[in-house]
Amino acid sequence: MSTDQCVDKLKNRGIKPTAARIIVFKELSKQESPVSLLELETLIDTLDKSTISRTLSVLLEHHAIHAFEDGSGSTKYEICTSESNCPIQNRHIHFFCEECRHTFCLDNIHIPIVQLPQGFVMDSINYTVKGICPSCNSKR
Ligand SMILES: [Zn+2]
Ligand SMILES: [Zn+2]
Ligand SMILES: [Zn+2]
Repeated sequence: MSTDQCVDKLKNRGIKPTAARIIVFKELSKQESPVSLLELETLIDTLDKSTISRTLSVLLEHHAIHAFEDGSGSTKYEICTSESNCPIQNRHIHFFCEECRHTFCLDNIHIPIVQLPQGFVMDSINYTVKGICPSCNSKR
C-alpha cells in the first residue's frame, strides 16, 4: 500500500493520519502474515515500543486492524481489508502451525457465526485452528 492509500484508509475509519499511525499501518499492510508487537518493533526502527503499542490501540479502536491470539503466546495484528465496516462474518479464520509456529491467514474461510443467548453482545471472536502446515507436513 502506498502512503497515500494508507492515509485514505485511515481517514475512512475516522483516524487522524499522524506520522506514527501511517508508519505502523503501512508496515502492517506489507506483511503476508499477522505479526506480534515484538515483530513490529523489529520491523519499525523509527518508533519506540510504547508509541507502536499506543498506535495499535488507536487503530484497533477504529477497526482499521484486527488483533487475535494465535496460540504462540503473543497477540498478533493484521490490517482489516474491508472497505468500511467489518462484520464478524467477513473475517477469516487463522491456522497456527505447531511445528514452525507460523500463523497463516485462511482468507477464503470465514469465521462461523455462533448464536449467543439473549443479552450477550458479541464484540470479537478468536478462531484459530492449530495443527501442521503443508510445508512442515511434507517434511515428515
Ligand atoms: Zn476487518
Ligand atoms: Zn509449519
Ligand atoms: Zn488473518
